[in-house]
Amino acid sequence: MKQLEITITNETGLHARPAKTLVNLVKQFKSNVTIWHGEKKANAKSLISVLTLGASKGSLLKIEINGEDEETALAEIESAIMAGLGEGETEEKPAASPAPKSEAPRAIEESKPTKANTLRGVGAAPGIAIGPVYQFQHQEIPIDEISDTLVVGWERLQDALARAREQLNKLNKQMIEQGMKAEAAIFDAHLGLLDDPELNEAVHERFQKGRDALKAWKETIEDSAMVVAALNDPLLSARADDLRDVGRRVLRLMVGAENKADTLPDKPVVVVARELSPSDTVSFNKDLVLGFCIVNGGPTSHTAILARALGLPAVVGVDESVLNFENDSYIILNGSDGTVTFNPLPEELQLAEQERNAWLEKRRAALEQAATPAVTADGRHVEVVANAGTLEDAEKALKMGAAGIGLLRTEFLFLERTTAPTEAEQFEVYRSIAEVMGKRPVIVRTLDVGGDKPLPYIEMQREENPFLGERGIRLCLNRPELFRQQLRAILRASLYGNLQIMFPMVGDIEEYRRARLMLDELQIELKIPRVTAGIMIEVPSAALMADVLAREVDFFSIGTNDLTQYTLAMDRGHSLLSAKQDGLHPAVLRLIAKTIEGAHKCGKWAGICGELGADPYAVPILIGLGIDELSVSVPSIPLVKAQIRGLKASDLQSLAQQALECATARDVRELVKKELKM
Ligand code: PEP
Ligand code: MG
Repeated sequence: MKQLEITITNETGLHARPAKTLVNLVKQFKSNVTIWHGEKKANAKSLISVLTLGASKGSLLKIEINGEDEETALAEIESAIMAGLGEGETEEKPAASPAPKSEAPRAIEESKPTKANTLRGVGAAPGIAIGPVYQFQHQEIPIDEISDTLVVGWERLQDALARAREQLNKLNKQMIEQGMKAEAAIFDAHLGLLDDPELNEAVHERFQKGRDALKAWKETIEDSAMVVAALNDPLLSARADDLRDVGRRVLRLMVGAENKADTLPDKPVVVVARELSPSDTVSFNKDLVLGFCIVNGGPTSHTAILARALGLPAVVGVDESVLNFENDSYIILNGSDGTVTFNPLPEELQLAEQERNAWLEKRRAALEQAATPAVTADGRHVEVVANAGTLEDAEKALKMGAAGIGLLRTEFLFLERTTAPTEAEQFEVYRSIAEVMGKRPVIVRTLDVGGDKPLPYIEMQREENPFLGERGIRLCLNRPELFRQQLRAILRASLYGNLQIMFPMVGDIEEYRRARLMLDELQIELKIPRVTAGIMIEVPSAALMADVLAREVDFFSIGTNDLTQYTLAMDRGHSLLSAKQDGLHPAVLRLIAKTIEGAHKCGKWAGICGELGADPYAVPILIGLGIDELSVSVPSIPLVKAQIRGLKASDLQSLAQQALECATARDVRELVKKELKM
């Protein structure tokens, strides 16, 4: 056995992120690792256990390592803790409390005062909902009653855990296919909690002492969640919520109860809740939800993203007095200006009805006109294409009027499996999508995974900052066999349609050259005509060098999700920073402007394939900057096309220039609102 004594130097102690880094590192070793903090003891392979040590800056930890690789483990654990477990000395302290609601970029404050029966939150998904309130609370499963009639044995729990794993894997995959990486990460974290050794041991201990499996599970989850929540760290309280969410999922599976989210009243309602877990949000019957009114969460919370994907209005960050609204009382929810009106007067209802009808009519007309090209009133054509992940998406995109696929995410083929997909398997998928789309362009993005989303069949080093590590093209260039296999499959499928290739995360021209060279060699080998190849602009260095890159690259597609993350230095999945992550930040806009300018100088085109491309406040500015293509989620296509048809490009150039001179994202949104009377 090896022993180590070490002091925690992290400014805020072993909070969620460094603890997770430590646990992930320890899990790579076969040895058992125990951490002592005074009298408290933790299994270092269990996140919950490590968190409950409550180790703060200056805490002295005693670490015991026992097993065949104890020597290497000791060295790596020591150096990782000394290096700050991924936080480094200069890392900013996590905020002591969640970002104030008023900082949310998308909350465009009206200058007029709010009426007495109106609450103001953040408009997170546009549109108006009028209808009866449905207060959504988590269903309490009557454990005691059930336990009286049902002996819940160990096997039943194991079976529920296995099914929970299946459900979470499926949800994780669905989110990835829809490009919702942050949401996918949440379900991934839930999977990690299900397999937490300490949690499982605690449940087993209770079971052996005579509790039935149902009670043993519920009590263990509740105890752990309470301990984690009591540490009073905003990052940890999210972990406590995750634990409860996972706990409920397993309990429901054990007793065969439905998720309450699946059993809404049988009439359309406005769902009001303190917060919605990702599991709740994805399991609502969408036909029975008119909109979401949520106390917690910002405009980039999963509820907001999912509401936008579903085309349902949502207001988040509302005062908690909404939780006192009676079920069935009527409210007006305005997701465009972020207001919630209760006890509406007849004239307010009438006005809201008119606004709702106008909104529905706008959507209906947009859908009806979905096939009409996106040409501005003064004749500027903007290509509106789809972000897709599957053949099914491609088919839907066609119905919605997509002129092609601007971003085909290929990750879904590679995830949730223990070996890489074969060339033949990949070829079939790319070919079917190419055939469905016919002459329309399909831009296939090569594998974009990395340290933040490791694949079990790729050996990778542990990374302190996976988002700055071996991601995207870097990973593929270091795995030439894997990369060639994908390129061969795409090249062969290119004979069946109009496939083009796009490399993700390129930060330097050398990376593009190496990738293009491999592609050229394979084209010669396979005797296939040259395929167009472009790059994603997601890294500030690439945006700044766009004029140089454009000499060699066929096109640019700006990935604003990552470009925003790297420009503003904010992890795109960070819940506390989500409200501040806005692609309309002038710093991001300046990089977009530089990219477009660089492309046009060399006669190349530039598009957007991040979420910003479907933001109604961003569309006019992007057109004003000269964007050639917008690649957006499938449901957004008709509305983006309709908005473009209603704009005049010549009016937008000066608007875009003014936006570049703004100080904040909020100022940019105010500007667009004022100038375009939105
Ligand atoms: C982006 O970063 O904007 C993008 C479209 O890629 P992804 O969201 O898949 O990282
Ligand atoms: Mg990206």
